[in-house]
Amino acid sequence: MRRMMKLLPMVVLALLVGCATTGPGGKQSLILIGSDTEVAIGQNMDTEVRTQNKIYTDSSWNAYVTRIGNRIVAQCDRRDIDYHFAIIESDQVNAFAAPGGYIYLYTGLLKTMENEAELASVMAHEISHIVARHSIKRLQVAMGVAMLQELVLGESSEALNTAVNLGLSLSFAEYSRENEREADSYGVMYMTRAGYNPEAALTMFQKLASMSDGSPNFFERLSLSHPETQERITNTNSQIDSMRPLSSELETNAGRYQSLKTRLP
Ligand SMILES: [Zn+2]
Repeated sequence: MRRMMKLLPMVVLALLVGCATTGPGGKQSLILIGSDTEVAIGQNMDTEVRTQNKIYTDSSWNAYVTRIGNRIVAQCDRRDIDYHFAIIESDQVNAFAAPGGYIYLYTGLLKTMENEAELASVMAHEISHIVARHSIKRLQVAMGVAMLQELVLGESSEALNTAVNLGLSLSFAEYSRENEREADSYGVMYMTRAGYNPEAALTMFQKLASMSDGSPNFFERLSLSHPETQERITNTNSQIDSMRPLSSELETNAGRYQSLKTRLP
């Protein structure tokens, strides 16, 4: 009975907000935090990220990643929010997505890439986490029923603060295997639809996995010794094989990327 009483607010909440939301490819999932609240959490997190990190403001690079990002967003399954792309000046080989459409790329990661399609593969992967609302789903779990209820129903700034702080700490936590599988698969689909050669996703994977130095913020903890990494490479490989023959029109754009790469700090 006590357990039921605990669950009751969640059920009421679910009924109130009409919880079934379309994920990538039309999948239904239980989302209690609506897009407006998600964007508010993302905006607040973005302020924190910009305070705690050195943002790389080079206008050519920022215009470039925004152009590639928007090209992928135009092909994705979620366009009820605006997407924002920022570059963090740091040697870390990393990238992450915050709720509400905020995506961050580290200059350390950009330096490991050889062409625009590799960049598109990482961006499409991060966009897919936002499309599938992966960080919102784990935030819902982390917040607990009472705080979540306050966040969704009330104007409680305390609940929003809690969500922002939890969101920040979760940004560097690993996603579940299932979430990664989903982001990999939709990422490859979106980048190809956007006109990029998906084989770049494989070269990027292999490069990151072989570089893994075990540092805690390494791009979603890929490592060649990790069975999950091997599984991700195998899955991506067979997904690309199922798309063959690949159109010769698909872009890689190494020249454009290499000339911009020389500008990086
Ligand atoms: Zn991921």
